[in-house]
Amino acid sequence: MPPVNANLLRRYLEYYQDLGIQTLYRRAVEVVPAAPVSEVPAAAPVVEETPVKVPESKLPELPAMAPSGENLFQIMQDIGDCRRCRLHEGRNKLVFGTGNEKSPLVFVGEGPGADEDEQGIPFVGRAGQLLTQMIEGTAKREGIPLKREDIYICNVVKCRPPGNRTPEPDEMEVCGQFLYRQLMSIRPKAICALGGTAAKAITGRKEGVTKMRGHWFQWRDIPVMVTYHPSYLLRPYNAATAKREAWEDLKKVLHFVYD
Ligand code: URA
Repeated sequence: MPPVNANLLRRYLEYYQDLGIQTLYRRAVEVVPAAPVSEVPAAAPVVEETPVKVPESKLPELPAMAPSGENLFQIMQDIGDCRRCRLHEGRNKLVFGTGNEKSPLVFVGEGPGADEDEQGIPFVGRAGQLLTQMIEGTAKREGIPLKREDIYICNVVKCRPPGNRTPEPDEMEVCGQFLYRQLMSIRPKAICALGGTAAKAITGRKEGVTKMRGHWFQWRDIPVMVTYHPSYLLRPYNAATAKREAWEDLKKVLHFVYD
């Protein structure tokens, strides 16, 4: 590990916190010759009109405790019959994620609803059908050959919150570590956060989705586009304007990934 200044140390600690690690112990101090300190991506994401592309050679090395090289199957095995938070109590099926594990694009929602809980597959209910239509319809109109199964879809929490309530911060903290590991394993070219909960979990920002949507943020070195959750678009009074904005956001992310 390179010599650590206060800024780098803070970022490492935030990184471990993201992984759900709350306690770290100090080892005996090691004396190492001064060397340039490599930069860890800022936890606070950057808002850009177009995402900043980081050349491969400049990608920061992950700290030693990062699970490296694991695949989705291994992460799923680690989740197992999860009882790490109270959400397991009411679940029928755990909803890990589906799609292409080599996808350059990952969509992240909030958490399973009733249909997803029944089938164990994310976004299969009404909101999911709208999401599928929007992805495939936008891609087709933009001349991008893309089907739902070509991309990867998952949620921040893997078990259905009772009554479809918003997941609590402690539930997101526990389950979020598996989302981060899924994202690290897939290493997509871009992430699309669906709705405020996913946007907050991924970017760490506190603004509402209406302010964040249509803008690029960053998770580690991966650009993140925020857009509305499809359930929000299903509400009749939100339909026209919000739907148009969501199509615009999708167009941006699809062109960035597939052009
Ligand atoms: N809403 C979500 O956020 N995720 C799903 O999988 C379904 C509905």
